[in-house]
Amino acid sequence: MKKIVTIVGARPQFIKAAVLSRIIAQNNEIEEVLVHTGQHFDANMSAVFFDEMQIPEPIYNLGINTMNHGAMTGLMLQKIEEILDKEKPELVVVYGDTNSTLAGALAAKKMNIKIAHVEAGLRSFNMEMPEEINRILTDRISDLLCCPTKNAIKNLKQEGFDYFNCKVIQTGDIMKDAVKFYSVIASEKSSIITDLNLEQNKFVLATIHRQENTNSLEKLKTIFKGLEGINKKMKVIMPIHPRTKAILEKNNLKFNITFIQPVGYFDMLQLLKYCNLVVTDSGGLQKEAFYNKKACIIARQETEWIELVENNFAVICGANSGKIENAFERFQNVDLNFDKPLFGNNVGDKIYNEILSIL
Ligand code: UDP
Repeated sequence: MKKIVTIVGARPQFIKAAVLSRIIAQNNEIEEVLVHTGQHFDANMSAVFFDEMQIPEPIYNLGINTMNHGAMTGLMLQKIEEILDKEKPELVVVYGDTNSTLAGALAAKKMNIKIAHVEAGLRSFNMEMPEEINRILTDRISDLLCCPTKNAIKNLKQEGFDYFNCKVIQTGDIMKDAVKFYSVIASEKSSIITDLNLEQNKFVLATIHRQENTNSLEKLKTIFKGLEGINKKMKVIMPIHPRTKAILEKNNLKFNITFIQPVGYFDMLQLLKYCNLVVTDSGGLQKEAFYNKKACIIARQETEWIELVENNFAVICGANSGKIENAFERFQNVDLNFDKPLFGNNVGDKIYNEILSIL
């Protein structure tokens, strides 16, 4: 049986990998060895996803976290190389745009092992984002580039990928499969809506964790001012990311919205299903809002998911409290038709078959 190694490390990667791991296990044609770099390690940022989504226990957990980018990526590179040397897989699968993605891809490439990059071709065109650097470098050395959108394909073409020795395909967004599959289970298993005494359509779901926002107190304060403005009209619930929490605590910043601990995926899917709209700087959540037919206010200067903005399902507000509050008001008065096939279907199966074809 051919062997692949899957590298994950951060919350959104557990969710994406869960989809493919399930298909791999069902088909029983490939052996998958799961490596967790340890980038996210709190139980509510990591273990809860493995439990809920029944992702196989990682064979290796490297426990690499809370370091600067260089040290973290370097140590991951070293440790992943050791694992690849021992496991000798045919191919390595990496997801998204974290340091774990780049380290996994780089380790594999230097050992002449094939790489499949899931969520390839996304660009923010903001080279100050660590994620943008990770994406560009990972894409360049990947053999199979699974693109979620037409725009992602276009981005790669513009960078000359037609001339590189790799396969670029549009598979759609793997998170769509995750939302579809796990929403059914989530509505049975999660009691968060009643636990928090929330009413349908009467609360706003917010998450803020992107480095460009957390690294600037000014931006952070402005975004939270916008959220406080919304909160005067509609309750704002924020599952708070550990990085954001640490910064608010360190600077003794308090805001009048409802903070909760990071939640598992089932609770998140229920919050998405019942909320009025979403305010976020997360990449994944922008699309999950769309899959749940919810508008999204993007607290960033740009987005990789430009289709959402072009179709008016989302609006870019940056760290601007006035724009955030206005967008909230505007979305209360529009009736959006979310029945647009922007991100594909049965994406996990497509990616699985593409991987099989290059093994
Ligand atoms: N998420 C979650 N619980 C939370 C916050 C986020 O399950 O408390 C999920 C969210 O639904 C999405 C993923 O985590 O699927 C997004 O991760 P994150 O925002 O950390 O990363 P990004 O998508 O920006 O890379």
